[in-house]
Amino acid sequence: MLGRLGEDRLIENCSMAAYSSFRCGGNAALLAEPGSLEQLLFVLETLNSRGAEYMVLGNGSNVLFSDKGYDGAVVHIGAGLADISFETLPGSPLDPFAEGAQLPYFIRMTAGAGAKLAHAAKLVSSAGYTGLEFATGIPGSVGGGLFMNAGAYGGEMKDFVSSARSVDRNGNIIVRDVEEMDLSYRHSVYMENGETILSVSFELPFGKQDEIDAKIAELTEKRTTKQPLSYPSAGSFFKRPEGHFAGKLIEDAGLKGLTVGGAQVSELHAGFLINAGGATATDVLDLMHVIRETVMDKYGVLLEPEVRIIGE
Ligand SMILES: Cc1cc2nc3c(=O)[nH]c(=O)nc-3n(C[C@H](O)[C@H](O)[C@H](O)COP(=O)(O)OP(=O)(O)OC[C@H]3O[C@@H](n4cnc5c(N)ncnc54)[C@H](O)[C@@H]3O)c2cc1C
Repeated sequence: MLGRLGEDRLIENCSMAAYSSFRCGGNAALLAEPGSLEQLLFVLETLNSRGAEYMVLGNGSNVLFSDKGYDGAVVHIGAGLADISFETLPGSPLDPFAEGAQLPYFIRMTAGAGAKLAHAAKLVSSAGYTGLEFATGIPGSVGGGLFMNAGAYGGEMKDFVSSARSVDRNGNIIVRDVEEMDLSYRHSVYMENGETILSVSFELPFGKQDEIDAKIAELTEKRTTKQPLSYPSAGSFFKRPEGHFAGKLIEDAGLKGLTVGGAQVSELHAGFLINAGGATATDVLDLMHVIRETVMDKYGVLLEPEVRIIGE
Protein backbone atom coordinates (compact mmCIF):
# COMPACT_ATOMS: atom_id res chain seq x y z
CA MET A 1 0.00 0.00 0.00
CA LEU A 2 2.64 2.57 0.91
CA GLY A 3 4.84 0.90 -1.72
CA ARG A 4 6.45 4.18 -2.81
CA LEU A 5 8.44 4.10 0.42
CA GLY A 6 10.29 0.90 -0.41
CA GLU A 7 10.17 -2.30 1.58
CA ASP A 8 13.06 -1.45 3.85
CA ARG A 9 11.16 1.57 5.14
CA LEU A 10 7.98 -0.32 6.03
CA ILE A 11 7.91 -3.00 8.68
CA GLU A 12 4.76 -4.91 9.50
CA ASN A 13 4.20 -6.15 13.04
CA CYS A 14 7.29 -4.30 14.20
CA SER A 15 8.69 -4.70 17.74
CA MET A 16 8.71 -1.28 19.37
CA ALA A 17 11.28 -2.28 21.99
CA ALA A 18 14.04 -1.33 19.56
CA TYR A 19 12.43 2.07 18.97
CA SER A 20 11.95 3.08 22.58
CA SER A 21 14.63 3.99 25.09
CA PHE A 22 12.88 1.77 27.67
CA ARG A 23 13.75 -1.23 25.46
CA CYS A 24 10.45 -2.99 26.13
CA GLY A 25 6.89 -3.12 24.84
CA GLY A 26 4.88 -4.90 22.18
CA ASN A 27 4.54 -4.57 18.43
CA ALA A 28 3.08 -1.90 16.17
CA ALA A 29 0.89 -3.14 13.34
CA LEU A 30 3.05 -1.12 10.95
CA LEU A 31 6.16 1.02 11.20
CA ALA A 32 6.94 3.55 8.46
CA GLU A 33 10.28 5.34 8.24
CA PRO A 34 10.04 8.14 5.67
CA GLY A 35 13.42 8.97 4.17
CA SER A 36 12.54 12.55 3.22
CA LEU A 37 10.00 15.31 3.77
CA GLU A 38 8.25 14.33 0.54
CA GLN A 39 7.95 10.72 1.72
CA LEU A 40 6.69 11.80 5.14
CA LEU A 41 3.95 13.95 3.60
CA PHE A 42 3.01 11.07 1.31
CA VAL A 43 2.78 8.62 4.22
CA LEU A 44 0.66 11.00 6.30
CA GLU A 45 -1.63 11.79 3.37
CA THR A 46 -2.14 8.08 2.69
CA LEU A 47 -2.90 7.31 6.34
CA ASN A 48 -5.22 10.31 6.69
CA SER A 49 -7.14 9.53 3.51
CA ARG A 50 -7.77 6.01 4.78
CA GLY A 51 -8.81 7.18 8.21
CA ALA A 52 -6.04 4.94 9.59
CA GLU A 53 -4.96 5.03 13.20
CA TYR A 54 -1.39 6.36 13.47
CA MET A 55 1.07 8.12 15.72
CA VAL A 56 4.33 9.93 15.11
CA LEU A 57 7.47 8.82 16.90
CA GLY A 58 10.70 10.77 17.27
CA ASN A 59 13.65 9.25 19.08
CA GLY A 60 11.43 7.18 21.39
CA SER A 61 12.97 8.60 24.57
CA ASN A 62 9.71 9.61 26.26
CA VAL A 63 7.37 6.76 25.38
CA LEU A 64 6.36 3.42 26.86
CA PHE A 65 4.65 1.00 24.48
CA SER A 66 2.40 -1.41 26.35
CA ASP A 67 3.03 -5.13 25.95
CA LYS A 68 -0.20 -5.31 23.93
CA GLY A 69 1.46 -3.04 21.40
CA TYR A 70 -0.11 -0.43 19.15
CA ASP A 71 -2.81 -1.39 16.69
CA GLY A 72 -1.96 1.27 14.14
CA ALA A 73 0.90 2.75 12.16
CA VAL A 74 3.90 4.32 13.85
CA VAL A 75 5.49 6.98 11.64
CA HIS A 76 9.10 7.23 12.75
CA ILE A 77 10.68 10.61 12.03
CA GLY A 78 14.45 10.35 12.16
CA ALA A 79 17.44 10.71 9.87
CA GLY A 80 15.28 11.35 6.79
CA LEU A 81 14.23 14.70 8.22
CA ALA A 82 17.33 15.83 10.06
CA ASP A 83 18.76 18.73 8.04
CA ILE A 84 20.01 21.70 10.03
CA SER A 85 20.58 25.17 8.56
CA PHE A 86 21.65 28.55 9.91
CA GLU A 87 21.06 32.18 9.01
CA THR A 88 22.02 35.40 10.74
CA LEU A 89 19.20 37.80 11.46
CA PRO A 90 19.64 41.21 9.91
CA GLY A 91 16.36 42.34 11.44
CA SER A 92 17.29 41.36 14.97
CA PRO A 93 17.56 43.98 17.70
CA LEU A 94 21.29 43.40 17.72
CA ASP A 95 21.71 43.69 13.96
CA PRO A 96 25.32 42.84 13.05
CA PHE A 97 24.94 44.95 9.91
CA ALA A 98 23.57 48.02 11.67
CA GLU A 99 25.78 51.09 11.88
CA GLY A 100 28.37 50.63 14.60
CA ALA A 101 27.04 47.20 15.52
CA GLN A 102 29.36 44.50 16.72
CA LEU A 103 28.89 41.07 18.13
CA PRO A 104 26.78 39.84 19.84
CA TYR A 105 24.07 39.17 17.30
CA PHE A 106 21.41 36.57 16.81
CA ILE A 107 21.39 33.47 14.68
CA ARG A 108 18.42 31.43 13.50
CA MET A 109 18.89 27.67 13.41
CA THR A 110 16.25 25.62 11.62
CA ALA A 111 16.34 21.88 12.29
CA GLY A 112 14.28 19.08 10.80
CA ALA A 113 12.01 17.36 13.32
CA GLY A 114 14.09 14.20 13.09
CA ALA A 115 17.39 15.87 13.98
CA LYS A 116 18.73 14.88 17.38
CA LEU A 117 18.10 17.74 19.79
CA ALA A 118 21.44 17.22 21.57
CA HIS A 119 23.30 17.28 18.25
CA ALA A 120 21.60 20.52 17.14
CA ALA A 121 22.29 22.06 20.56
CA LYS A 122 25.97 21.08 20.43
CA LEU A 123 26.37 22.43 16.88
CA VAL A 124 25.03 25.83 17.76
CA SER A 125 26.79 25.95 21.13
CA SER A 126 30.16 25.15 19.61
CA ALA A 127 29.60 27.98 17.11
CA GLY A 128 29.36 30.40 20.05
CA TYR A 129 25.58 30.82 20.42
CA THR A 130 24.05 30.48 23.83
CA GLY A 131 20.74 29.17 25.18
CA LEU A 132 20.56 25.52 24.22
CA GLU A 133 23.24 24.30 26.65
CA PHE A 134 20.43 22.72 28.71
CA ALA A 135 19.50 20.51 25.74
CA THR A 136 22.90 18.96 25.08
CA GLY A 137 22.02 15.96 27.29
CA ILE A 138 18.39 15.42 26.25
CA PRO A 139 18.23 12.29 24.09
CA GLY A 140 15.16 13.23 22.03
CA SER A 141 14.55 14.56 18.54
CA VAL A 142 13.89 18.22 17.79
CA GLY A 143 10.23 17.43 17.00
CA GLY A 144 9.79 15.38 20.19
CA GLY A 145 11.52 18.14 22.14
CA LEU A 146 9.05 20.75 20.94
CA PHE A 147 6.05 18.43 21.38
CA MET A 148 7.10 17.89 25.03
CA ASN A 149 8.49 21.40 25.56
CA ALA A 150 11.54 19.58 26.87
CA GLY A 151 13.60 21.34 29.49
CA ALA A 152 16.30 20.88 32.07
CA TYR A 153 18.26 22.84 34.66
CA GLY A 154 16.20 26.00 34.25
CA GLY A 155 16.05 26.07 30.43
CA GLU A 156 13.22 24.90 28.19
CA MET A 157 12.41 24.84 24.49
CA LYS A 158 9.87 27.65 24.99
CA ASP A 159 12.67 30.14 25.70
CA PHE A 160 14.55 29.68 22.41
CA VAL A 161 12.09 28.39 19.79
CA SER A 162 10.86 31.12 17.45
CA SER A 163 8.60 29.19 15.06
CA ALA A 164 7.87 25.72 13.70
CA ARG A 165 6.40 24.14 10.62
CA SER A 166 3.87 21.37 10.96
CA VAL A 167 1.29 19.55 8.87
CA ASP A 168 -2.28 19.00 10.03
CA ARG A 169 -4.46 15.98 9.39
CA ASN A 170 -5.87 17.58 6.22
CA GLY A 171 -2.40 18.02 4.74
CA ASN A 172 -2.20 21.79 5.33
CA ILE A 173 1.28 23.08 6.10
CA ILE A 174 1.14 25.42 9.08
CA VAL A 175 3.76 27.82 10.40
CA ARG A 176 3.29 28.72 14.05
CA ASP A 177 5.11 31.42 15.95
CA VAL A 178 6.12 30.40 19.44
CA GLU A 179 3.20 32.39 20.91
CA GLU A 180 0.80 30.07 19.08
CA MET A 181 2.25 26.89 20.57
CA ASP A 182 0.83 27.16 24.09
CA LEU A 183 4.15 26.01 25.52
CA SER A 184 4.23 25.43 29.26
CA TYR A 185 5.73 22.82 31.57
CA ARG A 186 5.83 19.62 29.44
CA HIS A 187 2.95 20.88 27.35
CA SER A 188 2.45 22.11 23.78
CA VAL A 189 -0.49 22.74 21.48
CA TYR A 190 0.68 19.75 19.42
CA MET A 191 -0.58 17.45 22.18
CA GLU A 192 -4.11 18.53 21.26
CA ASN A 193 -4.14 19.41 17.57
CA GLY A 194 -2.85 16.19 15.97
CA GLU A 195 -0.31 18.09 13.85
CA THR A 196 3.00 16.52 12.91
CA ILE A 197 5.97 18.80 13.52
CA LEU A 198 8.21 19.04 10.45
CA SER A 199 10.89 21.53 11.48
CA VAL A 200 11.68 23.92 14.29
CA SER A 201 13.46 27.29 14.22
CA PHE A 202 15.43 28.60 17.18
CA GLU A 203 16.79 32.10 17.67
CA LEU A 204 19.89 32.40 19.81
CA PRO A 205 22.17 35.24 20.81
CA PHE A 206 25.94 35.14 20.46
CA GLY A 207 27.58 34.25 23.77
CA LYS A 208 30.96 33.71 25.34
CA GLN A 209 32.44 30.40 24.23
CA ASP A 210 34.23 29.68 27.50
CA GLU A 211 31.02 30.25 29.48
CA ILE A 212 29.02 28.07 27.09
CA ASP A 213 31.59 25.27 27.33
CA ALA A 214 31.71 25.53 31.13
CA LYS A 215 27.93 25.33 31.40
CA ILE A 216 27.76 22.25 29.16
CA ALA A 217 30.52 20.58 31.18
CA GLU A 218 28.71 21.37 34.45
CA LEU A 219 25.36 20.01 33.22
CA THR A 220 27.00 16.92 31.72
CA GLU A 221 28.71 16.23 35.03
CA LYS A 222 25.36 16.57 36.84
CA ARG A 223 23.66 14.15 34.46
CA THR A 224 26.39 11.54 34.44
CA THR A 225 26.72 11.47 38.23
CA LYS A 226 23.06 11.85 39.23
CA GLN A 227 21.17 9.96 36.52
CA PRO A 228 21.19 6.21 35.83
CA LEU A 229 22.31 6.63 32.23
CA SER A 230 23.62 3.08 31.86
CA TYR A 231 20.11 1.63 32.15
CA PRO A 232 17.27 1.89 29.64
CA SER A 233 14.67 4.42 30.82
CA ALA A 234 12.63 7.35 29.59
CA GLY A 235 14.24 9.89 31.91
CA SER A 236 12.10 11.30 34.72
CA PHE A 237 8.99 9.17 34.69
CA PHE A 238 6.64 11.59 36.41
CA LYS A 239 5.96 15.29 35.95
CA ARG A 240 7.00 17.62 38.74
CA PRO A 241 3.91 18.07 40.91
CA GLU A 242 3.17 21.64 41.96
CA GLY A 243 5.33 22.51 44.98
CA HIS A 244 7.19 19.16 45.07
CA PHE A 245 9.80 17.06 43.30
CA ALA A 246 8.59 13.65 42.18
CA GLY A 247 11.95 11.99 42.90
CA LYS A 248 12.05 13.33 46.46
CA LEU A 249 8.49 12.20 47.22
CA ILE A 250 9.29 8.72 45.88
CA GLU A 251 12.52 8.55 47.88
CA ASP A 252 10.87 9.86 51.08
CA ALA A 253 8.13 7.23 50.65
CA GLY A 254 10.86 4.59 50.92
CA LEU A 255 10.48 3.40 47.34
CA LYS A 256 14.04 3.85 46.08
CA GLY A 257 15.23 0.54 44.65
CA LEU A 258 11.72 -0.97 44.64
CA THR A 259 11.54 -3.63 41.95
CA VAL A 260 8.67 -5.18 40.03
CA GLY A 261 9.91 -7.88 37.65
CA GLY A 262 12.69 -6.22 35.68
CA ALA A 263 11.53 -2.66 36.40
CA GLN A 264 13.09 -0.69 39.23
CA VAL A 265 13.00 2.69 40.91
CA SER A 266 16.57 3.83 40.27
CA GLU A 267 18.87 3.75 43.31
CA LEU A 268 20.67 6.77 41.89
CA HIS A 269 17.66 8.99 41.10
CA ALA A 270 14.24 7.97 42.40
CA GLY A 271 12.51 9.98 39.66
CA PHE A 272 13.80 7.51 37.08
CA LEU A 273 12.11 4.15 36.53
CA ILE A 274 14.64 1.91 34.82
CA ASN A 275 14.65 -1.34 32.93
CA ALA A 276 17.14 -3.11 35.17
CA GLY A 277 17.13 -6.15 32.89
CA GLY A 278 14.40 -7.98 31.01
CA ALA A 279 11.57 -5.67 32.15
CA THR A 280 8.25 -5.88 30.36
CA ALA A 281 6.12 -2.79 29.89
CA THR A 282 3.68 -4.38 32.34
CA ASP A 283 6.45 -4.46 34.97
CA VAL A 284 7.03 -0.72 34.44
CA LEU A 285 3.30 0.04 34.59
CA ASP A 286 2.80 -2.09 37.71
CA LEU A 287 5.69 -0.28 39.38
CA MET A 288 4.19 3.05 38.31
CA HIS A 289 0.86 2.13 39.94
CA VAL A 290 2.52 1.12 43.23
CA ILE A 291 4.43 4.42 43.32
CA ARG A 292 1.35 6.50 42.56
CA GLU A 293 -0.75 4.78 45.22
CA THR A 294 1.98 4.97 47.88
CA VAL A 295 2.75 8.64 47.26
CA MET A 296 -0.96 9.48 47.23
CA ASP A 297 -1.52 7.58 50.52
CA LYS A 298 1.49 9.12 52.27
CA TYR A 299 1.50 12.67 50.94
CA GLY A 300 -1.82 13.19 49.16
CA VAL A 301 0.04 14.12 45.98
CA LEU A 302 -1.04 12.79 42.59
CA LEU A 303 1.91 11.86 40.37
CA GLU A 304 1.16 12.24 36.67
CA PRO A 305 3.37 10.38 34.20
CA GLU A 306 5.44 12.58 31.93
CA VAL A 307 6.18 9.52 29.78
CA ARG A 308 3.63 8.99 27.00
CA ILE A 309 2.05 5.58 27.53
CA ILE A 310 0.98 4.06 24.21
CA GLY A 311 -1.47 1.24 23.66
CA GLU A 312 -3.05 1.11 27.12
C1 LIG B 1 18.21 9.45 29.94
C2 LIG B 1 17.10 10.41 29.62
C3 LIG B 1 17.19 11.72 30.04
C4 LIG B 1 16.16 12.64 29.74
N1 LIG B 1 16.28 13.93 30.19
C5 LIG B 1 15.30 14.81 29.90
C6 LIG B 1 15.39 16.17 30.35
O1 LIG B 1 16.35 16.57 30.96
N2 LIG B 1 14.36 17.00 30.05
C7 LIG B 1 13.27 16.59 29.34
O2 LIG B 1 12.38 17.42 29.10
N3 LIG B 1 13.17 15.32 28.91
C8 LIG B 1 14.14 14.43 29.15
N4 LIG B 1 14.02 13.14 28.72
C9 LIG B 1 12.82 12.73 27.99
C10 LIG B 1 12.89 12.88 26.47
O3 LIG B 1 14.22 12.80 26.00
C11 LIG B 1 12.25 14.19 26.01
O4 LIG B 1 10.89 14.28 26.39
C12 LIG B 1 12.34 14.35 24.49
O5 LIG B 1 11.94 15.65 24.16
C13 LIG B 1 11.46 13.36 23.73
O6 LIG B 1 11.80 13.44 22.35
P1 LIG B 1 11.66 12.15 21.42
O7 LIG B 1 12.02 12.54 20.04
O8 LIG B 1 12.41 11.01 21.98
O9 LIG B 1 10.10 11.91 21.52
P2 LIG B 1 9.34 10.51 21.49
O10 LIG B 1 9.61 9.77 22.75
O11 LIG B 1 9.62 9.82 20.22
O12 LIG B 1 7.83 11.04 21.50
C14 LIG B 1 7.33 11.75 22.61
C15 LIG B 1 6.00 12.36 22.19
O13 LIG B 1 6.24 13.34 21.17
C16 LIG B 1 5.47 13.06 20.01
N5 LIG B 1 6.27 13.45 18.84
C17 LIG B 1 7.56 13.12 18.61
N6 LIG B 1 7.98 13.69 17.45
C18 LIG B 1 6.92 14.39 16.96
C19 LIG B 1 6.73 15.18 15.78
N7 LIG B 1 7.70 15.37 14.87
N8 LIG B 1 5.51 15.73 15.58
C20 LIG B 1 4.51 15.56 16.49
N9 LIG B 1 4.63 14.81 17.61
C21 LIG B 1 5.85 14.23 17.85
C22 LIG B 1 5.18 11.57 20.06
O14 LIG B 1 3.98 11.23 19.37
C23 LIG B 1 5.05 11.33 21.57
O15 LIG B 1 3.74 11.59 22.01
C24 LIG B 1 15.03 12.20 29.00
C25 LIG B 1 14.96 10.88 28.55
C26 LIG B 1 15.98 9.99 28.85
C27 LIG B 1 15.88 8.58 28.34
